[in-house]
Amino acid sequence: MQKTKTKTKLMLVLAAVLVLGFVSTNLISYLVSEESFRARSLDETLPLISNNIYSEIQADIMRPIHISSLMAHDTFLKDWALDGETDLAAVVKYLKEIKERYGFFTSFFVSAKSKKYYSYRGLNKVISPGDAHDVWYYKFIASGLPYDLDVDNDEVHQGRLTIFINHRVEDFAGKLLGVTGVGLSMDQVGEILASYQNKYRRAVYMVDSSGLVQVHSQKDLIEKASLAQLLGEAKLARTILANKTGTHTYESQRDGGTVLLATRYFADFDWFVIVEQGEGASPVAVRSALFTNLAVGGLITLFILIAVLVVVNRYQAQLETLSTTDDLTGLPNRRYFMEGLKRELLRAGRYGHPLSLMMIDADHFKSVNDRFGHDGGDQALAHLAATLKAAFREVDLVGRLGGEEFAALLPDTGADEALAIAERIRQAVAQSSLIIAGSEVRLTVSIGVVNHTGGEADGKQLLKWADEALYEAKRAGRNRVKAGGPGLQRQAWPAS
Ligand code: GH3
Ligand code: MG
Ligand code: MG
Repeated sequence: MQKTKTKTKLMLVLAAVLVLGFVSTNLISYLVSEESFRARSLDETLPLISNNIYSEIQADIMRPIHISSLMAHDTFLKDWALDGETDLAAVVKYLKEIKERYGFFTSFFVSAKSKKYYSYRGLNKVISPGDAHDVWYYKFIASGLPYDLDVDNDEVHQGRLTIFINHRVEDFAGKLLGVTGVGLSMDQVGEILASYQNKYRRAVYMVDSSGLVQVHSQKDLIEKASLAQLLGEAKLARTILANKTGTHTYESQRDGGTVLLATRYFADFDWFVIVEQGEGASPVAVRSALFTNLAVGGLITLFILIAVLVVVNRYQAQLETLSTTDDLTGLPNRRYFMEGLKRELLRAGRYGHPLSLMMIDADHFKSVNDRFGHDGGDQALAHLAATLKAAFREVDLVGRLGGEEFAALLPDTGADEALAIAERIRQAVAQSSLIIAGSEVRLTVSIGVVNHTGGEADGKQLLKWADEALYEAKRAGRNRVKAGGPGLQRQAWPAS
């Protein structure tokens, strides 16, 4: 009981140490790689991604700017306007061709002279400064800019949100003829944005120089939310908007986590592109490595525990053997023999079975030691033990009580049978011999036999009687068997 308790405790402590070790080293390495991932994101990955996105947006959005510019410089359009805007079909065909060839959402020309708004569908309306929808035109003309980008609702398409690229059209002397350009639907912009987000697995959006959201995958934020609202940090938003050069990276705290930001300013249309990376963005690999390592660690822990359990059990078994066996002879030692005696007495008492006990002592053993030394004596003792072991039955318990003194316990054995066995043993020993240092050595033993008859006698008492009988055998001349105790008459054997 005590042993299993100690073993369980050892296993628990070992398991705790191993698990703690594995978990802590893995956690530390996880945190280190996460930190290095974060640092790399800030210093390398995010700026690179933001630059790539910048280039792609340039390619994607510069194209409509480029085409608007081509339209503004097209002699057909200029001549058509100068000639009094007479052939409606011709300009509609022209606008339609531009829209369809380049896949734009819309295309238009607004005449400065007639204030007529032409789209690829035909004459749309006549603009006026009083119409809120037309404010963009007057503002753009007043700005003096060659072109600009404007997020607005398109009247031609039931007010759908559109990015218009407006370009001034001037005659050959530089006098204003009107404004032409194309429009990208937010769906198209959203698709472009979604392709960036998919490609780089980062959130991407754009804000104008005041921080107002212009391009976002969530359409309801466009022209409504501000950068400060998205970030939840007005100060950081101001810092970002103040940096109109190159690429910058920032860290922002949001919902208890860290969000990494890369920003890039677009001088062409005075917007910023913002690339965001949440904490869960890509340490997926790092995290799955953590789980793999922990799983492996768990398996190793289990393996070590099993190995330790096997080793401990084996050592325990060895220790138990050591503590019950006599080293020199390999026979059960006194302690183990006494336990056996106690057990057999109980059994014999309970079932009323007979039980016999013998004390066996080598005769004149001192002389063996005197002749061959202590080592020679040891050899003789081992030989004697082997002879005894072989001569007794499988069911008998033979032990070495100490010195050259042995004892045997014979279960289910009555007095007569015990005496007969004792005699057989005596003869077996007397007839056996061994060679020590070239000389033949013969040993004899004296044996005292007692029989347990179901009385009150305990093991000690039985041993005492057996010892007395043995003493009598010695006194009677050795190499003989004597019976003792109340169960047997004090008879000599063989009867002389
Ligand atoms: P007897 O029993 O016939 O009266 O004579 P004895 O010489 O055998 O008896 P005694 O008890 O006087 O001496 C026993 C000797 O056995 C003494 C001791 O040196 C020897 N002996 C006891 N244990 C060992 C042992 O483990 N190895 C060796 N070599 N000798 C031992
Ligand atoms: Mg002796
Ligand atoms: Mg002795």
